[in-house]
Order: sequence, then C-alpha cells, then structure tokens
Amino acid sequence: MHQHQVPSRFKAKIIPVSIFDFVVFGGTGDLALRKLMPSLYYRDKDGQIPTGSRIIGASRSDMDRAAYIAIVKEHLVKHVRDEDFNEECWAAFAERLDYVSTEVPNGWQNLKQALAADGRIRVFYLSVPPGIFGSTCGKIHQHKLIDDQTRVVIEKPIGRDLETSCEINDSVGNYFHEGQIYRIDHYLGKETVQNLMALRFANSLFEPLWTRNWIDHIQITVAESIGIGTRGGYYDKSGALRDMVQNHILQLLCLVAMETPKEFGANEVRDEKLKVLRALRKIGPEDFKSHVVMGRYREGAVGGRPVIGYMEEKGIPEDSRTESYVAIKAHVDNWRWAGVPFYLRTGKRMPRRTSEIVIQFKKVPHLIFPRNADEVAPNRMVIRLQPDEGIRLYLMTKVPGPGGFRMQPTPLDLSFAEAFKMRYPDGYERLVMDVVRGNQTLFMRRDEVEAAWMWADTILNGWDNLNTFPQSYTAGTWGPSAAIALIERDGRTWYESEKR
Ligand code: NAP
Repeated sequence: MHQHQVPSRFKAKIIPVSIFDFVVFGGTGDLALRKLMPSLYYRDKDGQIPTGSRIIGASRSDMDRAAYIAIVKEHLVKHVRDEDFNEECWAAFAERLDYVSTEVPNGWQNLKQALAADGRIRVFYLSVPPGIFGSTCGKIHQHKLIDDQTRVVIEKPIGRDLETSCEINDSVGNYFHEGQIYRIDHYLGKETVQNLMALRFANSLFEPLWTRNWIDHIQITVAESIGIGTRGGYYDKSGALRDMVQNHILQLLCLVAMETPKEFGANEVRDEKLKVLRALRKIGPEDFKSHVVMGRYREGAVGGRPVIGYMEEKGIPEDSRTESYVAIKAHVDNWRWAGVPFYLRTGKRMPRRTSEIVIQFKKVPHLIFPRNADEVAPNRMVIRLQPDEGIRLYLMTKVPGPGGFRMQPTPLDLSFAEAFKMRYPDGYERLVMDVVRGNQTLFMRRDEVEAAWMWADTILNGWDNLNTFPQSYTAGTWGPSAAIALIERDGRTWYESEKR
C-alpha cells in the first residue's frame, strides 16, 4: 500500500450546507467544550459553515455572551492544535457564537429570540444528562421552535436497558419524528470506521473472503489506559457492558458483519445493521459462564505510574459489582457467519489505549512447505481505530536469502496519517455537519438501539442472577485470566497490538 500525497482530484469534495442555527444545550459542559466547539471551529476554519449561521450555547448558568465566548476560547486553545488556532479564524468563529441561559426568567423566550425566524435549518444538540432529554424536547416544542427543518441530536447513554431506552426514545419521539432524531455514536464518525465500509464495499478483493469459509474468527478490542477518574458515581451505575459494548462495540460489529446494502443511504445501511443485531445469539444465564467474563481492576501500574484499584476510586460503593472490563464470545446466527465467533472485549486501566478490529483468516487448506508448517501463520487484518488510524494486512512472505525457505508474516501497512498527509478529523466533525446536511447514515435508528439493548439485557440479567463479583485484574494488564481462558479454550489467542 503505497504512501502518497492525495492528488487534488481525490480530495474530498465538501458538500455545501445551507445556513443554520446550531443550539448546544449543555453548552458549558465537558462534551460541548472539549469536542463540539472544537469540531465546529475546524469546520468553520475549513470554510464549511455558511455566512450568517450561528452557534448558540444554552445552559442553566447565568452569564452573558462575552463570558461564554471567553470560556469557549479558553477550551479551543486547549483542544485545537497550535498550528490550527489563529486569531483570524477565532474572530470569525466568535462572531457566530451566542449564549442563552434557559433558567433565568424569560430564558426560553430569549432563546426563541436568538434563533432566526427565516425557516433555516435548526439543530438542537442535547449535550445534557439523558434524564432531561424529554423535558428539554418538551420545552423546545412548547416554545414552537420545531419545524420541518429542525433536527435534534441525542448522546449516549440512551437508557441503561431496553425499558429505559424505550422511555428516552418515547420522550424525544413525542416531539420529533424519527427522521429528525440523530442518535450519535462518535465511533461511526471515525475515518477508519467509514474506511471499513470503503474497504469492504469499494474493493472486490476482500468481500468474497468475508465469510465463514475464509474467516476463522473476529476480535474487537476497545482498551483504555485511563481509570474511571472523577466519574466514579456515574460509571458505577453503568459499567463496561453498557458504556462500551451495547453501543460502540456492537456498532463496529455491525459494520464488519453486515451484508452489502443496496446503496450508501441512511435506511439501506441501517436496515443491514439491524439484521445483524437481530441475528446476535442471545447469551442467557445458562451460557453466561462460558461466554462472558466480567472484570475489575485492582491497584497496579499503567505507563510506569502506580494507580489505585477500582474499589478505591472516589464514589464507588463498598458493595459495588460493576465491571470495568468485559470479554464476550458472541455469535451472529446467519448463513455468512455461522460458526465464526466474535470475541469482544473492552476495559479500563489496560496497558495502553487502543481500539482495533482483527479479522483472523483461516489457515491455508494444504501445506506445501512441510518443514515450515509452524511458520505459516494464517493471514490477519488489523483495522486500527485509535490511536493511529490505519489498516495492517499480515501476509506470509519469504525471508530473503539463499539456502532454506523460511517465511514470516509481514504487514502491508496503511497508516492513514502517513498515507494522506493531512490532519485526521475527529469523528464529531463529520457527524455535526451530517446533522446539518440531514444525512442520518452514520446515526443510530431507534430499532437498532433497542435491538442492541435486547441482546445486552440478556447478558445483564445473567450477571444479576450470578450474584458474584467481577474477577479482578491488575491495572496495567489486559484483563483477568478468565478472559484469556475464554478465547484459549477455543485454541485461539487475543491479538496484542504492537506498540507503535
Ligand atoms: P457535563 O460536563 O456534566 O455537562 C452537562 C451540561 O448540561 C452542562 O453544560 C450543564 O450546565 C448542563 N445541565 C446539567 N443539568 C442540567 C439541567 N438539569 N438543566 C439544564 N442544563 C443542565 O456533561 P458532559 O460530559 O458534557 O455530557 C453531556 C452529555 O453527553 C451527557 O448526556 C453525556 O452522557 C453525554 N456524553 C458525554 C461524553 C463526554 O465525553 N463528555 C461522551 C459521550 C456522551 P449548567 O450546569 O450550567 O446547566
């Protein structure tokens, strides 16, 4: 895979968007200031935000526009690369910014007045606790701020089980129809995740191999080196399964496993993902022990620094049974994937932050190199989502030199950053503009979210029934030994990504 500068004819054509007002409820919060504002700044800097469009922060805090602008600037300086932050772009961006406190008297009237009444696109981004999604939508409706050009974006977590996710979906659905609701999963905005679709559906090379005939198994790992930090109270009510598997990991699984959609359209792609979710084999209480390992980190060291264990973190109740790690052996019960296990794992306080999908192909069917039988490793494709987005395809090659015929797996390595010599945009950058464009392809439809919960609920019920504690693992390792046993029982091993 050759590394090159992108010829201009292949540079992304930016689809123009119409003028819009973008309201960020929770505009003073972490997500808004760390992700959304920097993303909008970058889109503005790239000339993608039409003149006259506005970005309006809204929260309970009482402050004026100037104070809000100062807060946004402080965070942009922190979260935008030095070479991309300049006073000229900032001044243009600041010009678009406004702030409204919704909790002061007439707060909602002020918001109404801040919005243009010229029929432009209006986005309400609910970067607030999910518990107030419904009431916020109710107020948006009550103040007659919804028309055909209005969209609402909701963040995870969409519930903590099927029942509560239905409640949230109903509470938003009371005021917005499905075509207006954008359930964001920022993993779907990652370039590599979209590249997975390009890899599968824009190349004829891999798709014929993408079946149980040629694939032995698939691994999906989302590892974090951080612990739960100051979010102990929140995290303990959630755990790794709810926080990572039900949404991000299942979305990745869908993109790996889905059939070819008729076209790259919102419903076509989401219909295919839904079929995968519905084909996921339920893991009932009787299968729990052979298919699921829950873990929790104890004290250890990450990156050479000592760290405390989960139970010592702030805000964790003494009787907590919450998992900071989960490994699952999943099956997609359909013709394409019958008999191909999907090993999923995610955890906190792992040795390093890495997210990757490993496609492990089968052994060659017949060996012609008898003396080197052990050396012929099956092909493997590693799709790396972070930290350094790219794809590695391990092929067997002959080690150079006369004499014997030795072989070794050698990677064909495509690092997107090196190949395209450009900044890799954050997933949110694409997604916020997709909302404005009205493109729902990379957002989750209600039936998808609920199908994912239906599967996750069976595991959560199995866990509740067990009445045991998560297995402990030392912080800075790849999880409990039972998780290694989960895959090694099947004669396979977890792929440990190479440090880059
Ligand atoms: P946060 O830092 O706690 O910010 C929440 C924001 O909502 C603040 O601006 C707060 O401002 C406002 N708010 C809180 N309670 C409110 C209420 N009752 N009425 C009106 N406004 C209220 O939270 P966050 O981390 O930004 O998360 C926001 C949303 O994104 C949550 O749904 C979260 O689950 C989701 N999310 C966050 C991340 C992340 O990386 N942070 C990742 C994925 C999903 P005032 O106090 O001034 O009202």
